[in-house]
Amino acid sequence: MPADPVAIARDLVRCRSVTPAEGGALAFLEMTLRGAGFTVHRMTFSEPGTADVENLYARIGDVGPNLVFAGHTDVVPPGDEQAWTHPPFAGELADGALYGRGAVDMKGGIACAVAAALDYLAASGGRPKGSISFLVTGDEEGVAVNGTPKLLKWAATRGETFDHCVLGEPSNVEELGDTIKIGRRGSLNGHLIVTGKQGHVAYPDRADNPIRGLVKLVEALQSQPLDKGTKQFTPSHLEFTSVDVGNSTVNLIPGQARARFNIRFNDKHTLASLKKLMQARAKKAAGKKIKFAFQWEPSNAGVFAVKPGPFTDLVTAAIKKVTGRKPKLSTSGGTSDARFISAYCPVVEFGLVGQTMHAVDERVPIADLRALTAIYRTILDRYFG
Ligand SMILES: [Zn+2]
Repeated sequence: MPADPVAIARDLVRCRSVTPAEGGALAFLEMTLRGAGFTVHRMTFSEPGTADVENLYARIGDVGPNLVFAGHTDVVPPGDEQAWTHPPFAGELADGALYGRGAVDMKGGIACAVAAALDYLAASGGRPKGSISFLVTGDEEGVAVNGTPKLLKWAATRGETFDHCVLGEPSNVEELGDTIKIGRRGSLNGHLIVTGKQGHVAYPDRADNPIRGLVKLVEALQSQPLDKGTKQFTPSHLEFTSVDVGNSTVNLIPGQARARFNIRFNDKHTLASLKKLMQARAKKAAGKKIKFAFQWEPSNAGVFAVKPGPFTDLVTAAIKKVTGRKPKLSTSGGTSDARFISAYCPVVEFGLVGQTMHAVDERVPIADLRALTAIYRTILDRYFG
């Protein structure tokens, strides 16, 4: 009997693994994968100031190529549980869909990968013609410190090598098969601080109003585009998200003014080159008059992209075979753990349809779970074929 992705997804949804809690989700995966012959490692990573996080690495086969399915079992909180049509951790099936937090992001995706791997192994005498691995973290929806980056380092230290990776994040926009993500923009958060001199508003000559300087620098930073876009990416974009003076009185010129911004950037930039560019633009606009400084928030969200080639072609063909759709190769959206994996091997993101992720009544059509399993199974067949 083929492995049932719906049953696996239900069991996973019933684990209350609100980030960073394990909630039984990794224990369930461990049991399921061990039963199919995988060697399973569970490890907890810690870092001062962050919660401990449990992770899992499982592999079957001891020769290459090693195809990795990656993902996370942690979920965002359900919010007001009363607002859900079906309880967020009950795993109820209704109207042809599985309801629950994580159904699409991304316990459903993991369930499909597990079911596909089990089916593939059953059809090939219990051993792959290479290796199949699962790299699963409980820390994707949180700060992503004790998850995938450390898991990858742990695996590399043990001599594990990865050849290709499929990350089962919900990549599709409207319908299963419409989008593969082959890259992600980077993200940088910064503060621009202009310092003046505090004083009475009636005597501006004795003060130096930093708001004037801030307005000028805000304009200088956002007036010119950062680039024109690249072959694989849309233009980089800077957006101010807050301007703060913190002044509650009417007769005071404040001593300092701050603005906060975020930059989503493409492969024309790096975190370091962007900081340099911001500094240069602000300096040019400030002249000798405006005193400014940047504060950068720690970021590990660099940009990455996978060049279209045989692997993206293989995934595209598998999607087309099952759904009849030719997926778009996209680099849009926020960041994901693919940015960490891309330092070790080419990674594509293909999972369920993202429409209800992080929302009340998150749910996945049963038909999509079956179709995604068929797509992953086709990928396995062709990858090792
Ligand atoms: Zn996710």
